[in-house]
Formats: sequence, structure tokens, C-alpha cells
Amino acid sequence: MYGSSRALPRRNTRQRSAIRDVFEHAERPLTVEEAHAALVARLPRAGIATVYRTVAAMVAQGGLVPVEMPGEPVRYERADIAHHHHFRCEACRRVFDLSGCIEGLRALAPPRFRVRDHSVTLYGTCANCGPA
Ligand SMILES: [Zn+2]
Ligand SMILES: [Zn+2]
Repeated sequence: MYGSSRALPRRNTRQRSAIRDVFEHAERPLTVEEAHAALVARLPRAGIATVYRTVAAMVAQGGLVPVEMPGEPVRYERADIAHHHHFRCEACRRVFDLSGCIEGLRALAPPRFRVRDHSVTLYGTCANCGPA
């Protein structure tokens, strides 16, 4: 914990609140690099180390959750988004949120298997990258 006597540099405070804002308004999960790119559009001198530290703190505080996919850099999204799944564009490598879920997924499990959770990722090309 930081003591109240420890003054944090103002610039860092501004960067941290801008990083929170980036995730608050993001419409899809972001890697640290993507969050940094969005941040630099607003605060051109913001460093990526601040993004790493702020994201780690937000995860520790429960505000962000990691979105992990095999072989991919970890992305992060707000923890308060309702149950949903993801679409990964294989052309631009962005990951998008899908709304809704699939009925009957639990029925795939064999008898006496207890399903606790599931995640579904669709792969393909997004509207930007697919054929016009
Ligand atoms: Zn795409
Ligand atoms: Zn689901």
C-alpha cells in the first residue's frame, strides 16, 4: 500500500486514469500493446511500462480480467461484462466480443461429468478483413 505521504507524480496519475478510460470504452479485449497505442493517441509521451503496471494493478483489484488464447499475447477486458464469447480475426489478429451464448453446450459432456464453465472462440475474418 502507498502511504498517504507518498506523493505520486501527476503525470503518472493522468496516465493511469487515461489507461482506465481506454479499457472502460474499449469494445473488445486489448493487449497491453493495443492499450498503449490507444493511450499514445491521447498522451503521446506515455510509456508502455506504465500500461503494464496499471493493467497489473487493475487485474489485482478485480477490474480487468485476462482473455487468454493459446499462442497469443494476453488480452484484457473489463470484469463486469456479462458472460460472452470471442471472435478472433486471423487477418488483423483483433479479438471481438460476441454477444449471447450457445444453448445445450452442457449436454456435450458425458454422463456424470459436471460442467463448471466454458469458453468458446470463433476464428475467421472480421467485417473489415473479409471479402467485400
Ligand atoms: Zn480483421
Ligand atoms: Zn457461453
